[in-house]
Amino acid sequence: MTYNPSPDRYTTMQYNRCGNSGLLLPAVSLGLWHNFGSVDDFNNAEEIIHTAFDSGITHFDLANNYGPGPGSAEENFGKILNKGMSRHRDELIISTKAGYLMWDGPYGDGGSRKYLLASLDQSLKRMGLNYVDIFYSHRPDPDTPMEETMAALDSAVKQGKILYAGISNYSAEQTANAARILRSLGTPCLIHQPRYSMLDRWVEEGLLDRLEKEGIGCIAFSPLAQGLLTNKYLHKIPADSRAANPFGFLQKSAITPHLIKKLRNLDQLAGSRGQSLAQLALEWVLNEPRVTSVLIGARNTNQLKDSLKCLEGPGFTEKEVSTIEKILGPH
Ligand code: NDP
Repeated sequence: MTYNPSPDRYTTMQYNRCGNSGLLLPAVSLGLWHNFGSVDDFNNAEEIIHTAFDSGITHFDLANNYGPGPGSAEENFGKILNKGMSRHRDELIISTKAGYLMWDGPYGDGGSRKYLLASLDQSLKRMGLNYVDIFYSHRPDPDTPMEETMAALDSAVKQGKILYAGISNYSAEQTANAARILRSLGTPCLIHQPRYSMLDRWVEEGLLDRLEKEGIGCIAFSPLAQGLLTNKYLHKIPADSRAANPFGFLQKSAITPHLIKKLRNLDQLAGSRGQSLAQLALEWVLNEPRVTSVLIGARNTNQLKDSLKCLEGPGFTEKEVSTIEKILGPH
């Protein structure tokens, strides 16, 4: 059946300006790192994407290697687009990235011009697209001159294969360098994609100041710390969780008694505000004015709908901000 998006899809989402650019991004964006690969249930993946778009999520974030298997999230997303969503292409901001290992041999990893441009062509093919809206250097490559990586992003813009250039996982200093090089080429750096959550606040140590100074937007990935900042792990490690997967990035060993105590205190605070812990954690990241969007993941539509309610949050009193600081402790 052809997908027809909800006519109400633009009534509840908030859209924020991305740095000094002309581009608005939804306050909540959806990432396809987990749950969209060839090993996952396609119908569930499709339902999540449709629910997201129906709720005003216009931004979908991918990378060449998302799956598993690597590339299969892009293939599945391409299939979903082709089943009725591509009519809405001009309403969508689709991003992809290259930077981590994607194929064997010396040209399938890192930050070289050879890798980035070949990978971009492969991503476009997998998704059946003529262009992506944002293309990221997924990580800084210490073995490639920054000038080469940034020039590859600039070439992709000039070839019309991407609309905007982005960087991910770059330090404040590397960001300043990348922004300077891109500016000299006439392609401003649109956006930085760092990890940022209540449990991982490294961006507060200089990166956010740098982004503000450069007029670069910030989309925070893993704002729920891969699910830790939800009600999932308060009492046990459920079988349908990332931490239960022995090959995943979230290991059981991360869930210490010390962490569980913090999570329970945060959950109690969330409850007193009429929120789930996930909603509290997302609203807290969005409360930082330099954050353009929170880039969430979801295993199913229930999680997505729960997380989206962060937009209905009550805001934070000074007392709540300091209570949260006390619970989180030194960072
Ligand atoms: P989150 O921190 O939002 O974690 C998502 C996970 O949290 C879900 O898979 C689910 O875990 C759990 N969850 C989500 N919502 C709820 C809820 N309401 N209630 C209970 N549990 C919930 O983000 P991700 O780590 O998935 O990252 C998001 C995106 O960020 C990625 O898809 C990718 O696009 C991007 N990213 C970028 C990186 C980079 O280097 N640039 C690196 C990593 C991610 P479970 O599956 O256990 O149920």
